[in-house]
Amino acid sequence: MEIVPVPQLSDNYAYLLIDAETGKGAVVDCAEAAPVLAGVRRHAMRLTAVLGTHHHFDHVGGNTDLLAAVPDLRVYGSADDAPRIPGITHRLRDGDTVEVGSARGRVIMIPAHTSGHVAYYFPDEGVVFTGDTLFAGGCGRLFEGDAAQMMASLARLAALPDDTRVYCGHEYTEKNLRFAATLEPGNRALQGKLAAVESLRRANRPTVPSTIGEEKATNPFLRTDSAELAASVRTRRPDLPAGDRVALFAAVRQLKDRF
Ligand code: ZN
Ligand code: FE
Repeated sequence: MEIVPVPQLSDNYAYLLIDAETGKGAVVDCAEAAPVLAGVRRHAMRLTAVLGTHHHFDHVGGNTDLLAAVPDLRVYGSADDAPRIPGITHRLRDGDTVEVGSARGRVIMIPAHTSGHVAYYFPDEGVVFTGDTLFAGGCGRLFEGDAAQMMASLARLAALPDDTRVYCGHEYTEKNLRFAATLEPGNRALQGKLAAVESLRRANRPTVPSTIGEEKATNPFLRTDSAELAASVRTRRPDLPAGDRVALFAAVRQLKDRF
């Protein structure tokens, strides 16, 4: 399965998934139909499905225009979010399967950014689409859930194999890692990744995909077991209760909100 990022709006990514065997393909999240349809033509693929991660307009805003251009599209989205996902045809629950040509993806419910957020995991391809829940170097804001719920959702993603490639919904990596480096200046994996990401961005290239292994080594929201991170947060939030991972996570999220 070939995966092609399609820039959307100012810093979103849609992803074209192209099954080489059948020529059929899907798009993960679509804010704007025109660049996605241009990509579909360029790759001579047959678009058969839309895989929506969550209901925000920068992830589903192009659905209606896509359906107008390709009327028999399957539009997948969380059953919990169905009323908020334009054109939805397939309401998904945890563990459900989505079809992209001959490839099969598994739905992982990962609520907190929104209450019906899902990831799409393709085990045979070793790829996961994480929307606005797990970003390279960060995580989504807690719009419809709390810190404990986001930690549980991220833990489900972190449990995937380390070499799983992570495709997220936004190009936020550089700023995320700059924030991360303020909390773990001694994390060498983080410093190395930040340097690599800065040079990619200077060349105007995408920083996706990351991998689950890289995220576990560099993403502060997956590193509440890091002593350095805990100590850094404590210098700014001396009231933080000792040994409370959820409180630490919530404090990291609040610090990032203001970064
Ligand atoms: Zn969002
Ligand atoms: Fe978004």
